Amino acid sequence: MLGTDIKDYAITTLGSHTALQILKGAKDEGFKTICICEKGREGIYKNYNVADEFLFVDKFSDFFEIEDELVKRNAIMIPHGSFVSYLGWEKVMDIKVMHYGTKGILEWESDRTKEREWLKAAGLRLPQIFKSPDDIDRAVIVKFHGAKGGMGYFIANNPAEFYERIKEYPNEKGYVIQEYIVGVPMYTHFFKSPLTGELEIMSFDKRYESNADSIGRIASKDQLDVGIRTSYTITGNIPLVIRESVLADIFKMGERVVEESKKLHCEKTNSTLEKGLYGPFCLEAIIDPELRFNVFEISARIVAGTNPYVHGSPYTWLKYNEPMSTGRRIARDIKTAIESGRLEEILG
Ligand code: AMP
Repeated sequence: MLGTDIKDYAITTLGSHTALQILKGAKDEGFKTICICEKGREGIYKNYNVADEFLFVDKFSDFFEIEDELVKRNAIMIPHGSFVSYLGWEKVMDIKVMHYGTKGILEWESDRTKEREWLKAAGLRLPQIFKSPDDIDRAVIVKFHGAKGGMGYFIANNPAEFYERIKEYPNEKGYVIQEYIVGVPMYTHFFKSPLTGELEIMSFDKRYESNADSIGRIASKDQLDVGIRTSYTITGNIPLVIRESVLADIFKMGERVVEESKKLHCEKTNSTLEKGLYGPFCLEAIIDPELRFNVFEISARIVAGTNPYVHGSPYTWLKYNEPMSTGRRIARDIKTAIESGRLEEILG
């Protein structure tokens, strides 16, 4: 039986991505915090005073070297984008330290084909995928599998343009050709508590992408003259509120994604993900002028788009009347779980 005093536990995460709000939120809820840092990169976590203890690795992929230390400290690991990207979902499946969230979900969010199957089953509207470049009959966005942070995608309108542009990427192996939706990007940050059973909308953001978000500052003639290519390198996140009339539909989308996640199957454990998706997750969509949500990706863990809301968002303010970041919301669920002897329910 795990203890019911939060003083016996520590919340931990890798010093990157959303670590500031995760650790700050944990401290606000009364937890001890541990920040795992690459040597020499602990500066900002010291500066903002969010960590009670630091553990160091040469690189994040050496995580397993310090795992026993974490186990000794009864640490609870909060996964974020960097954790999944440095370790890979297969290795995350093997970790022994307590892990917040269903590990097997990460297999589904890391694979574009699987992710699509899941979202389709949840009845979401998705951009069309073109199996062959020869089928391109509208604007498409070509995404390379290894692309980090939206760098190096390209747009094409027809097969000829595709074959011309792909020559610039001789080393890229796999890619997906996705219908390019003309609209506005909108990222919805959800939180599903297995303890209350409730789905919450924490906040929204859009990304600030270079150079996509500054191309409009140059006349189209100049863009053509200097041969500017669009890229989507993420540099930061911009807070947003959404038109109130569409909020109800967004809740329904989130609920369907959660319901469907319980039916997913994990290859490595050969079992169904009974607990499904819980905790923070994000649906990444382009809203078209008909107000349709075209979902092009899901992140099944905390996203960096929640970072503007360290002190809460308009939506968390409506619900909580106190500062509630997504990081703090995670810590609150963990605290409630520990104190009510339900910790197993939020570990995966
Ligand atoms: P991703 O790496 O899939 O998150 O995409 C990076 C950026 O490309 C997004 O933030 C959007 O600005 C843009 N984008 C991705 N997919 C589409 C799409 N199907 N239609 C229009 N824009 C997209």
